[in-house]
Amino acid sequence: MTFQNKISINGNTFAFEPGETILEVAHRNNIDIPSLCHLKGTTPTGSCQICVVQIAGRPDLATACSTPAENDISVLTESPRVIASRKNTLKTFLASGNHNCAVSDSYGKDWTELQLKVQKDDESKELCPVWGDCRLQDLAYRYQVTGNRERITEFPYKMETVNPFIVRDFSRCILCGRCVKACREIQVNNAIDFNTPEHPSKIIAKDDQALKDSDCVFCGECIQVCPVGALVEKDIRYHVRQWDTRKVRTTCSYCGVGCQMFLHVKDNRIVKVSGVEGVEPNHGSLCVKGRFGFNFVHSQDRLTMPLIKENGKFREASWEEATNLVAEKLKAIKSKNGPDAIGVLTSARVSNEENYIAHKFTRAVLKTNNIDHCARL
Ligand code: SF4
Ligand code: SF4
Ligand code: SF4
Repeated sequence: MTFQNKISINGNTFAFEPGETILEVAHRNNIDIPSLCHLKGTTPTGSCQICVVQIAGRPDLATACSTPAENDISVLTESPRVIASRKNTLKTFLASGNHNCAVSDSYGKDWTELQLKVQKDDESKELCPVWGDCRLQDLAYRYQVTGNRERITEFPYKMETVNPFIVRDFSRCILCGRCVKACREIQVNNAIDFNTPEHPSKIIAKDDQALKDSDCVFCGECIQVCPVGALVEKDIRYHVRQWDTRKVRTTCSYCGVGCQMFLHVKDNRIVKVSGVEGVEPNHGSLCVKGRFGFNFVHSQDRLTMPLIKENGKFREASWEEATNLVAEKLKAIKSKNGPDAIGVLTSARVSNEENYIAHKFTRAVLKTNNIDHCARL
């Protein structure tokens, strides 16, 4: 086999396009190089140092996300040196903040014992809200690294909860910068940044104000990309664990873009919405309406029975009575004034499928094109 540009990864040879990074070539060929700060489609920084790999003949390890693939280099992604480096980095992350989850070593040395004990603690608010759904925790398990719960001290920055959507827990932030990249390069909002580029210790919004007083539009992109429990949806924090939910893919019905989203459903109720990564048209991004505007679905104020207005007052009616009345009235209007005397208003708050049925009914049954919908929240 001959390739114009070829690179060896773990002893296998792969072709690459000029400009591709080692990480991109590896991922394209299903080789898992872990990372915490890498965010597809944004500028690679190599800041977390988790994606380090060993390149034959080079003295230092290289970050795969920011090192271009080169012809004839030979790369090892899980050599003992690489693993030792990742373990050290993970230990530093775990020691850097309030990482009091299953990766704490205060439970003992044995991993099975540790996991069994942690299961009992699941309801505890002491435990992290994203326990079981955290990239740092996954990697700590993968490389069998523990932190030290005893060493956790008071953290200098208070948790921020003064907005309806996002809880910012700085004590769990590992300063990976994914939220900054997502806000700046994907959503192009520029609402957040590191407090100082040289020695960052906090992600801040506009002169270190609360998100609600900044340029933040609450699109929630930063939550979706945060690999740890530093950014969490306010409504579900400690109320919903990831394994209690099932994901249902659907299309957002708020506007005509057609964003692909997952509804996270617990006990038949939507508890969270996330964007579907890697598919058109939104590639995982959503706006504030798509991500947070779903509470109306389970609102107590929703009508559950048809209402018929008589003498200026509504009374409850059966579906049969209501549909018969509407059919009768629509037929009368149509025969007297023609189909274009009728207009149908649907809603952005119903599903695409329901809007589709409304459009079919309007055009195919009523024979008019007078159909529109209101997209306000
Ligand atoms: S953020 Fe991750 S590593 Fe830290 S406590 Fe939470 S689950 Fe554990
Ligand atoms: S919610 Fe959106 S705009 Fe606000 S900080 Fe996060 S990514 Fe930026
Ligand atoms: S808030 Fe999350 S995404 Fe942002 S820097 Fe901290 S850990 Fe990374």
